[in-house]
Amino acid sequence: MTSSVPSAQLSVLLADLVADPSRALVACDYDGTLAPIVDDPELAFPAPGAVEALAALASRVGLVAVLTGRPAADAVRLGGLDRVPGVVVLGLYGVQRWSAGVLDVPDAPPGLAAAERAAQVLAGRVGARLEPKGGSFAVHTRQAPDPVGALAELRPALVALAAEHGLQVEPGRYVLELRATGAQHVDKGTALSRLAAALPDGHPACSVLFAGDDLGDLAAFDACSRLRTAGTPAWSVAAASPEAPEVAARADFVVDGPTGVVELLAELVQLLG
Ligand SMILES: [Mg+2]
Repeated sequence: MTSSVPSAQLSVLLADLVADPSRALVACDYDGTLAPIVDDPELAFPAPGAVEALAALASRVGLVAVLTGRPAADAVRLGGLDRVPGVVVLGLYGVQRWSAGVLDVPDAPPGLAAAERAAQVLAGRVGARLEPKGGSFAVHTRQAPDPVGALAELRPALVALAAEHGLQVEPGRYVLELRATGAQHVDKGTALSRLAAALPDGHPACSVLFAGDDLGDLAAFDACSRLRTAGTPAWSVAAASPEAPEVAARADFVVDGPTGVVELLAELVQLLG
């Protein structure tokens, strides 16, 4: 596969990152962005070259980060992300933080355990699979006999369940996730903004790249827009998928799935020498 973006267009994005690499932030989602989507989330391994490109970038830019809906430790384990020096992995959309082998996990929101038990029953009725994540849980219908029908049937029940237990529903590709709301709520936009506000050297990022493929990444796309309005070049890149065309429509740049993301990261490595 080749990137769907002409390199002349990508050069705008790359030029901003190359201008002052020591203060550039490169952040990527995991599933569907660094790793191809597969039926079994336990088999979602990085696309060829993805971790190598991140590791090469780690010594060339201010910060490399991975922002995922998964628990942070899962992404580190599946992705072998501990091979990326200095990487920060934010899990559960930014609730958890993993860095240099140390994992920060806040307490689970109240109501989560009761909601999880009730959701397990609902999921079982339509052949969906519940994934406990510690501070949240997800109900996946990708492996159900009727993935679209199961998602449609579960949605109103899970929305009601979330409301009853003081949680909120985050939709994704064949998945509905129940997470904390209110003051405990963090999304990828909040998470990306915090990373950009203070790189490991304490200074704000002076350029940002964020790549994602799913609805949960749109908050980070919006954060890129806000940063740009405030004067920091920040660009969103969609790892395009026919399962979520609205993500590509909202991105500043579009590449062809994880393969396109790896090509983009590799191109950046090459430019940085
Ligand atoms: Mg994703």
